[in-house]
Amino acid sequence: MISKIKEALICLRAPRVTFRYPLEPMPAPARFRGRPTIDGAKCIGCGACAAVCPPRLIDIHGEGTTRTVELNFSRCTYCARCQEVCPVGAMQCTTDFETATNDRANYSVKVELAAVACQSCGTPFITQRMQQKLMAEFQPAWMQQRNELPEWLSLCQSCRVEKTGMTMGRNIKNG
Ligand code: SF4
Ligand code: SF4
Repeated sequence: MISKIKEALICLRAPRVTFRYPLEPMPAPARFRGRPTIDGAKCIGCGACAAVCPPRLIDIHGEGTTRTVELNFSRCTYCARCQEVCPVGAMQCTTDFETATNDRANYSVKVELAAVACQSCGTPFITQRMQQKLMAEFQPAWMQQRNELPEWLSLCQSCRVEKTGMTMGRNIKNG
């Protein structure tokens, strides 16, 4: 009997060893890899994240002069490959791990970007932000001074192949 009382006293004096979660919020560690999201102010619509996502959760599609980057993280494995390859830091894995929801629409993040049209055939083929980034990185200084656009950067893939023979890059599909 005494040993039982002694045991109960030891247990009562012992500090708490578990968290009160979910009764109280429990912040994830700083380097925790949770729900990914896209910063619409930074995304240039390059498609690098879509190309490397193993379960193919990121889609880039076009309608007229709008290009939409859509992330549906419902089956995300939190591998962070999308974050690693994003050239502008727009794709980020947050520390949010509470993703249960009654509405599947809550799993979707969309960014809409304006596209520019091919100077030859008029087909929208690249986002404005993407074109600006390419110009900033590859436009020769003399062209920058004259505010001229290199021909390869003003043509869609089909017209580029036809007019210059350059085969790099691909268009973002409409529809
Ligand atoms: S974290 Fe991995 S699985 Fe999730 S959206 Fe990014 S690339 Fe895809
Ligand atoms: S890699 Fe980054 S910039 Fe490119 S489409 Fe994805 S989120 Fe946008």
